[in-house]
Amino acid sequence: MRTLQELGSNACRGRGDSTLFEKILIANRGEIACRIMRTCRRLGIKAVAVYSEADAGSLAVEQADEAYPIGKAPASESYLRIEAILEACRRSGAEAVHPGFGFLSEKAAFAEALEKAGIVFIGPPPKAMRAMGDKIASKLLAQQAGVSTVPGRLEAIADAKSAVAIAREIGYPVMLKASAGGGGKGMRICRSDAGTREAFRSAGNEAKGAFGDARVFIEKYIEEPRHIEIQVLGDQHGQVIHLGERECSIQRRHQKVLEEAPSPFLDARTRQRMGAEAVQLAKAVGYYSAGTVEFIVDRERNFYFLEMNTRLQVEHPVTEMVTGLDLVEQMIRIAAGARLPLAQKDVKAKGWAIEARLYAEDPARGFLPSVGRLRRYLEPPVGQGLRIDAGVVEGSEISVHYDPMIAKVIAHGPDRGAATAKLRQALDAYYVRGINHNGAFLSALLAHPRFQEGRLSTNFIAEEFPEGFKADRLDARTRRCLVFAAAVLQRRLAERALDGKARPALDDWVVLLGREEHRLRLKPHSSGFLVESELGGGPIESAWLPGEALFCAQLVGEPVVVQVERSGPRWQLSHGGAAVEALVLEPPAAALYRHMPVKAPPDLSRFLLSPMPGLLVSVAVKEGQEVKAGEELAVVEAMKMENVLRAAADGLVKTLHCKPGDSLAVDQAILEFA
Ligand code: ADP
Ligand code: ADP
Ligand code: MG
Repeated sequence: MRTLQELGSNACRGRGDSTLFEKILIANRGEIACRIMRTCRRLGIKAVAVYSEADAGSLAVEQADEAYPIGKAPASESYLRIEAILEACRRSGAEAVHPGFGFLSEKAAFAEALEKAGIVFIGPPPKAMRAMGDKIASKLLAQQAGVSTVPGRLEAIADAKSAVAIAREIGYPVMLKASAGGGGKGMRICRSDAGTREAFRSAGNEAKGAFGDARVFIEKYIEEPRHIEIQVLGDQHGQVIHLGERECSIQRRHQKVLEEAPSPFLDARTRQRMGAEAVQLAKAVGYYSAGTVEFIVDRERNFYFLEMNTRLQVEHPVTEMVTGLDLVEQMIRIAAGARLPLAQKDVKAKGWAIEARLYAEDPARGFLPSVGRLRRYLEPPVGQGLRIDAGVVEGSEISVHYDPMIAKVIAHGPDRGAATAKLRQALDAYYVRGINHNGAFLSALLAHPRFQEGRLSTNFIAEEFPEGFKADRLDARTRRCLVFAAAVLQRRLAERALDGKARPALDDWVVLLGREEHRLRLKPHSSGFLVESELGGGPIESAWLPGEALFCAQLVGEPVVVQVERSGPRWQLSHGGAAVEALVLEPPAAALYRHMPVKAPPDLSRFLLSPMPGLLVSVAVKEGQEVKAGEELAVVEAMKMENVLRAAADGLVKTLHCKPGDSLAVDQAILEFA
């Protein structure tokens, strides 16, 4: 019997497979462009990249067989220009285009323009894209196809008064949504009449600004919701199957952070029913290629259709890891007219896969985007159930122009616990410096007992990290690990300074983590040390040498990886979702250190500082104006996101240092309080 892996990926693999394309253009950038190229290469297909001025030196351009410039850095002047992409197709002679996700991937007009030019669009038929592109229209269609939708009123709301009437009729809480919405924009939860009136105005404005379409509608807000979606795959011969579900309930502001397959919440019957409804909907719109039917699931496992994404999904790798199929390969084959290589009964999920999205953002500054050059970039070793989809290398620039996702880390194991453990190890060894990122936050999410129990909801992050995320909270195990690591690092450094001269057989050290003081003793022992301390003790084995970024060790029988960076006399260490600064001293020096005055940090509270490099869009206050805590002061735009900066405390605005339109550096003073 053939395995699924063979059925999906190898059975009809083909260099010289004359039914496939010879050259494919990838109308995208970053990790997804690199990922699509990987499949092209395996299939013996030439890959063409397109790039904006900002991406001229990118990994995607380097890895492509050919690459063509398509315009300036802003997406509207490059990746969104249909004409420029058509021109690159003509110049390269590409026969087909894969759009990836984002950008033009869900624009029916793009698919039609390609078709008209005689180029194959590797995606669904434009008609299906149109049918699913609008939330009101697609929900009406879903109802007709017998798919359950969220209770609500599927029509555009005329005014604030009817918004309130409809909200009351549905019953609070309700959710107000932009019909043209996407990416979590134009959505508001309303719990009262006043809230509904306000939301009607602000969501309408936001939708008008983002999508040029102010239509909003209202549906029931599902409490403690879980986001569970079904991957569908259809061919041009009317066959449609589903490849099971992905749960993406771990979200921040309606944006996915962790995704997994299968869902820890679904039972076999619900899974089967959701799969059947997703296939029903796909068939109803004549769908082919890969697509995703998103559902929201309530506490009782009632599920409701949310929307259909007519493209490859960011989190598609978790489905690939459990099914053994390559979805990009399937999209290419389907676009070339091939039949699905398997029937529904052949689809079997094996094990568990979890994906974490590594974003260039700063958890310590309210998750604001972070830009700059990747000064140091080391990926953990892949293989054996670990996959990394990245579009960067050391030295790459994370620019303000695009999505802040740097890479995706995906782990597969026999069960959920094994996949989680593998992902946590991978994050410990994923070393990124030069920009801020959410790696430690991802580790903390995976380490959270509630995550491990699978008690998820889309409110998880808001409920469990209400104050945001701080990497300086240490549990006993992490503290011990970091303290022991710091001592061994210092000892190894001291050894090198001694230049071969022996140290005493016992040495005592004091490890300072902020104000915490830990004394310990290291005794040379086989290839490492025996440690004794009030935190416990035992053998530590490590081959670490000064200068290495990762301290890999057997720490009292447990393998650990700690990220290391030397800053002056101190060590910056991170592991398991924690990041600390350690100072390691010999006891006499520690005794002196205790008497050193603590240097007070400069008082910056009188200034509003720009939390990131970006563009000052607006300033909401004037010189001499009194402001209250929480009041809007200014808006800074970076990475396609507008970030509202608010007053941290009541105060009086003394001086404005910048005006709208100014470019801002990180920590630049925008205004000063009296
Ligand atoms: P997924 O469900 O696959 O996570 P998302 O809806 O989060 O899909 O978006 C997929 C990609 O499209 C991401 O790169 C995201 O930044 C981009 N994207 C989605 N909606 C928008 C939008 N309204 N404007 C700009 N980019 C968007
Ligand atoms: P988008 O096009 O922006 O992705 P979706 O309709 O897919 O919009 O919703 C995005 C997210 O918003 C969902 O994953 C879920 O977390 C939340 N959400 C959407 N609709 C509801 C609802 N009716 N009740 C509760 N949460 C919802
Ligand atoms: Mg969605």
